[in-house]
Amino acid sequence: MFPQRRMRRSRSKNIQPLLCEITLSKNDLIAPLFVDETITSPLPIESMPGQFRYPVSGIAAVAGELWSQGVRAVLIFGVPKKKDPGGVSAYDPEGVVQKAVRKIKAEVNEMVVITDVCACEYTDHGHCGIIGETRCGTDLLNDPSLELMNKIAISHAINGADVVAPSCMLDGMVGSIRSALDKAGFEDVLIMSYSTKFASALYGPFREAADSGFAFGDRTTYQINCGNSREAILESKMDADEGADILMVKPAGFYLDIVSEVATFGLPVAAYQVSGEYSMIKCAAEKGWIKEKETVLESLIAIKRAGAELIITYFAGDVARWLDEQQ
Ligand SMILES: [Zn+2]
Repeated sequence: MFPQRRMRRSRSKNIQPLLCEITLSKNDLIAPLFVDETITSPLPIESMPGQFRYPVSGIAAVAGELWSQGVRAVLIFGVPKKKDPGGVSAYDPEGVVQKAVRKIKAEVNEMVVITDVCACEYTDHGHCGIIGETRCGTDLLNDPSLELMNKIAISHAINGADVVAPSCMLDGMVGSIRSALDKAGFEDVLIMSYSTKFASALYGPFREAADSGFAFGDRTTYQINCGNSREAILESKMDADEGADILMVKPAGFYLDIVSEVATFGLPVAAYQVSGEYSMIKCAAEKGWIKEKETVLESLIAIKRAGAELIITYFAGDVARWLDEQQ
């Protein structure tokens, strides 16, 4: 007998939109922004076509433009004037992120401002905290670096950050920052933890963007090996237990299995479509080998289908515009 169930019945042009399981919304989007203290006009990032570093003076206008397009959240990365071994400029009240957050909040008060909490952009050695001797040579020291993260997070909160996003992959970072924020009177500031962050080749273009390459070694002693899924899940579980409000998987596209597992914990999950994911799409599209808009939307739907409710993407502004065009 001919099949009773004909799947194509549900795929007619009129019926299909009614049965769509996953759709993108502007509320899903977080736009990463690079603020550079050393420049006075936007500087194109060569390895990420279409992306710029912005001067502090111009950052509120960029955030305002995103807000008017319907993007509700930005994630701020700073490029400071000065770097030193201790990453001191990361918690300077007049530091680049601190100034940028104040400016954005003054201009676009409702914009949710998320700040990256790490030291790698502020240390001269390029590692994510304090380094020193360990039994395996010079490496990132865990507990001394926690103190530094606390100071950075509090400083961002004082200047108006709604959400702090620790990205250093130190053990105990969420618990440490949570108690430091609470003690300082910022119990209403959220923590979006980079809870599962893989040591990935896809971060390459970001290092030019944020000027955060390292002087020696790599980050494989604190970021996760791409083959380790149990470890990856446990990392997010531990941050959930330490009080993270939002968990994150980074990168996104190569790690959708991890996103979908982390989404079972009951906390909101963000996924970071990183610089390499951006540049691969952008570059192939520029060559005419794939269609940019279709590929981007498909990549984001896939991330959402895996279980993320938030997507950090350099395409945020474009996507907001495309969603408007679809209506
Ligand atoms: Zn870092």
